Amino acid sequence: MNMTKEMNQDIQRSTKAVWAGEKEFRAFGASQVPVVHSVAYTYDDLDHWYEVAIGNEKGHIYGRNTNPTVESFEQKIKELEGAEAATSFSTGMAAISNSLATFLRPGDKVVSIKDTYGGTNKIFSEFLPQMNVEVRLCDTGNHEQIEEEVRQGCNILYLETPTNPTVKITDLERMVKVAKEVGALVFVDNTFATPINQNPLEYGVDLVIHSATKFLGGHADALGGAAVGRKDLIEKIYHYREINGATMDPMAAYFMIRGMKTLHLRVKQQCESAIKIASFLKNHAQVDQVFYPGLEDHPGHDIAKKQMRNFGGMFSFSMKGGMEAVRQFLPRLEYANRAANLGSVETTVGPARTTSHVENTPEERAALGIPESLVRYSVGIEDTDDLLRDLEQALAQLPEPAATRI
Ligand SMILES: *Cc1c(COP(=O)(O)O)cnc(C)c1O
Repeated sequence: MNMTKEMNQDIQRSTKAVWAGEKEFRAFGASQVPVVHSVAYTYDDLDHWYEVAIGNEKGHIYGRNTNPTVESFEQKIKELEGAEAATSFSTGMAAISNSLATFLRPGDKVVSIKDTYGGTNKIFSEFLPQMNVEVRLCDTGNHEQIEEEVRQGCNILYLETPTNPTVKITDLERMVKVAKEVGALVFVDNTFATPINQNPLEYGVDLVIHSATKFLGGHADALGGAAVGRKDLIEKIYHYREINGATMDPMAAYFMIRGMKTLHLRVKQQCESAIKIASFLKNHAQVDQVFYPGLEDHPGHDIAKKQMRNFGGMFSFSMKGGMEAVRQFLPRLEYANRAANLGSVETTVGPARTTSHVENTPEERAALGIPESLVRYSVGIEDTDDLLRDLEQALAQLPEPAATRI
């Protein structure tokens, strides 16, 4: 768990992304943080070993608890979110499940939204009820319904904004207000927004969660997760994780550290391209609906404008020709991986029914407002015009769309 000294508040995020968690973790005069592949740490002085082991002195004991490379990653994400403390995990799902399990007890109640990430949704629908935790899932974006549920009693209000894959927006300030009325903790999955575009802690949120696998790492080559927030909460989550063992690997931590140095540049480019591509698709004859909070007619546009610095590199769209059109046009894209990940330097596309919501039945997807032909588009850092031309050629080869949706 990382709680080393904080950087000056006036330092910009771009500078923090490069310099936070660097100097104090370096060794041998190297200009980069070393990958410490060591399971344990040796002590010749048994009294010193004991003091470190019981937490009285700084140091490392065993890799499931702490590791210098992993700590450097924690320091970076902590600084980028403006948090008191941070801890890390083997995956984003581990960050979510461990953070929930740290605080929930049988008989407790969680209020959340229907559109959380597919895996998160499974925790709510399958695993928490098994532990006798009540879960109430509200319509995403229906603030009144969430407020009503929270006011009836709630231990954790769990949010994700923007959501995956239809990029719906929830008003964080408003949600924090109602959670405070009943003393509930507010967790926010900030994976889609990234700390470049949104810092939920600024609105009084208690805990921010990331799948570092996505934008933070940014190169689709390592899995990881993080939880950041108040020191007292992070201490408890760290303790749960060090015992239960979903520890981040030092090599993964290194990939995250390296990726995060370019986070602001990548996100800037992705946002610039996303609004142009989303606008292009909106006007295309083959495209039915486009979901992007940067578009003025998006229902969450005004809230997004208020709480986000930019609208992010993720959007989704459905096709007038239905799944058959998707089947034909997606493989024709040259500059896109057809894959389940997102937030990488490469543009990545996939149907929601194959990626984020593959665990759901068609009926469940329909109830979640996810059309079967919905394509999730994660904008990479390629040139915007090249991406536009690529979409244009792939869509041009489709037959005229039928008048009705399939
Ligand atoms: C991918 C993702 C997760 C899960 O992260 P993993 O690293 O794959 O475990 C959680 N939340 C969101 C929003 C995601 O996109």
